Parts: sequence; C-alpha cells; structure tokens
Amino acid sequence: MTFLAQRSISREHPAQAESYTALATRLRDQREVIVGATNHQQPSIPIETASKPDTFALEIDKRTGCRICGQILEAVFRFLSKHQYELSINPQAQQEHANRGGFCPLHTWQYEGISSPYGVCTAYPVLTHRLAAELSTIASHVMQPGQSGNSVRDLLPTTKTCRVCEGHIEAEKKAVEEVAATAQHADSAKATKVSACCLPHLRMVLGSLGSGEIAQKLLVSYANLLGRTAEDLQRYALRHDALRRYLTSEEERRASQLALLLLAGHRNVISPWVIEDIL
Ligand SMILES: [Zn+2]
Ligand SMILES: [Zn+2]
Repeated sequence: MTFLAQRSISREHPAQAESYTALATRLRDQREVIVGATNHQQPSIPIETASKPDTFALEIDKRTGCRICGQILEAVFRFLSKHQYELSINPQAQQEHANRGGFCPLHTWQYEGISSPYGVCTAYPVLTHRLAAELSTIASHVMQPGQSGNSVRDLLPTTKTCRVCEGHIEAEKKAVEEVAATAQHADSAKATKVSACCLPHLRMVLGSLGSGEIAQKLLVSYANLLGRTAEDLQRYALRHDALRRYLTSEEERRASQLALLLLAGHRNVISPWVIEDIL
C-alpha cells in the first residue's frame, strides 16, 4: 500500500500515477474487508458501509455465510442432540418415530452423524419392523397394476412427517422474519447492519417484505455483494494462473466458498426437496 502511494505521487511515473492511485484506493477498500475478516473477535464481516444511503450494511456470518442457514443448523443440532438420546432409551419416542416413518433422508444422516451404531440399533428396530410389516401388506396386493410404487411412496417421510423438518421450518420462519424486521427498521443514521443470507433465503425475506423501497434497497445491496464476490473470484483465478498465489488476499481466498454459500445456501441446510416443499 505504501509502495503504491509513493508510486501515485512519483514524478518518475507520471503516466502510471493515475492507475497506481486507482489500484491503491481499490486495495484500501479490500483491506477494510480483510481486517474485518481476520478479526476473530467479530462474529461476522461488515461488507457494506452505511455511507451509501441507498444500500444496507450487510454482515456475513463467518461460519455459514447465511445467518438464516446458521440459525437453522443450530436449531436442528440442538433438537437432534436431545432427541437421539430419547430415541435410544424411550420406547414412546421410538413408537412415535415409527408412526411418523422416521426422519427425512437429509435429517436421517444428520441424526446418524451425532448418534452411534449402538444408538441407531436401539432406536430403529420399531420403525424397521413397522416398515417390514407394511411391505408385507403391500406385497399381498401387488398384483393390482400401479399400486406397489404408490403404496411404498406413502410410507416415505415428508417435511410434514419428519420431526426435524418441523423444527427446521419453525427456525427458518423465525430467522426470516427477524432479518426482514431488521431491514424494515434499519436506521441509516445508526448504520444498522442487516444479516446477509443465501439467495434461497433472500427469496423468503423478500417474500416477507413484499415489493417496495426496502426490498429494492436490499436487492441493490445484494447485487453489490455478488458483484464484488464475482470480482474476487476472478482476481483469485488470475493470480493463480500467473503463479502469484502469494498475492491473494483472504477475501479472495474465501471467495470460492462464499460464492457457493450465497448462491446455494449452506450444504447442511439446503436440500432441494426441502426448499421446494416449504417455499
Ligand atoms: Zn441460507
Ligand atoms: Zn427432515
């Protein structure tokens, strides 16, 4: 930065002074973001300053990229941590789990991730026996055309029967309303920051806000954020191609993850069938 400042006022390089100045300004902007990103005391990264009244100051959750995805992950983890123990020891919980048809595929594997082979072996016999009995019943009617596939489909869990999906949807609605309320009551004089979220969740926030000035301001803020992220992606790739990886900033190094988090949401939260069912 000092080198560029010297170059921008140097008489030896008058023709390049303007471009050095522009580059120095650009790097200074980047540095502000990088300093925020490397400060471990901060839970999130301020991306947009409040100096632009037509945009919101967006804060990116460092762990998940999306505040709403983060709140869903916390809610699901809290619920599964408690429930996996209940399922392993409580016959009533096992019976209810069996009646509901178990968890959806996404939450089945999240459950497995915090349970154990012993936990699964104590929790799942009731459900597995029930499904065995249901298949035997379907088998006895399978001679009727087109019936077996539909009957098995009816056994599969959905967002409405999966208990974790219930918690997921509840946490999601609450978080969406919170972000929408923050945007509605944002005070530009106080530089109120709005939590950034992935595009699937931005869609839900906009659904809550409806059309109008706030929605427009939010969209402009996201357009700026995505534009900057796209530039970070390109800068990283250019430096990588030129074997100048040592010149990349932290902002550029995290651009690949951030871009995908913003476009698709956190991998542990977003699965296509959940989103399609609940939107
Ligand atoms: Zn999200
Ligand atoms: Zn589920």
